[in-house]
Amino acid sequence: MAYISLRNVTKTYPNGYCALKNINLDIAAGEFIAILGPSGAGKSTLLRAINALDPASGGEISIGSEVLTPRNRRRVRAHVGMVFQQFNLVDRLNVMTNVLIGRLAERGWLSSLFYLFPKSDFQIAEAALREVDLLDKAWSRADKLSGGQQQRVGIARALAQQPKLILADEPIASLDPKSSEDVLALLRKICTEKGITVVVNLHQVEYAKQYADRVIALNAGSVVFDGSPEHLSPSKLAAIYGTTAPLETLHADELALAHA
Ligand code: ADP
Ligand code: MG
Repeated sequence: MAYISLRNVTKTYPNGYCALKNINLDIAAGEFIAILGPSGAGKSTLLRAINALDPASGGEISIGSEVLTPRNRRRVRAHVGMVFQQFNLVDRLNVMTNVLIGRLAERGWLSSLFYLFPKSDFQIAEAALREVDLLDKAWSRADKLSGGQQQRVGIARALAQQPKLILADEPIASLDPKSSEDVLALLRKICTEKGITVVVNLHQVEYAKQYADRVIALNAGSVVFDGSPEHLSPSKLAAIYGTTAPLETLHADELALAHA
């Protein structure tokens, strides 16, 4: 049975622009999915619809066995970890506190206001930091860490939510190649070892092939490919990225093939 399911999902922004057109998808629990597609294809819109940060305007999305509604989306979202391109850490706070922020959805407004957390939350945060191999940085200020380390803190914060699902929107777009691989390998490990479903928006086809079980490609708000990364042939890639697409996002040898 699908863990996430989208039925005829559309998203029309207030200005009338239709960014998602009739999307139908089923994602199983524990899958590692890469979403590919040119800039403006709707990748971020899709992730924001799945966690109801910016809800879909039509169709139905369910997570677990719950259909997202305005009433339950806060509660459902509490167990969906989000990882962002720019990490979204609070720079002046230490790493531990940034990870504890992942617990806030479970706490009342008073704890949130004063960053008061029970001991059990510290234990959860500590385990999350151990998972991303940054326990030794727990008391460093977040902005003293490298980009790769900050993104791992972002992942630890997501883990502190004890999520069943992690959504990552271009998590490596601001990182060097070595940190990019570390971050993707970490997400892959979390998926494999903890059975957490991971959906990650990516620009690089090469990384999608290396880490994902399945690739879903969007172009102009529609799904244009859904399958195993091995099946991403040069002609499929050309169709995904189109002729006027930002082809620098393709790996050089794929580019050569796509134009062969
Ligand atoms: P991607 O993440 O694949 O680059 P996005 O989901 O950010 O694409 O955007 C998809 C399309 O929707 C783009 O054409 C973008 O300009 C448009 N869009 C995104 N956010 C808004 C918004 N708030 N209002 C109007 N149009 C938007
Ligand atoms: Mg985007």
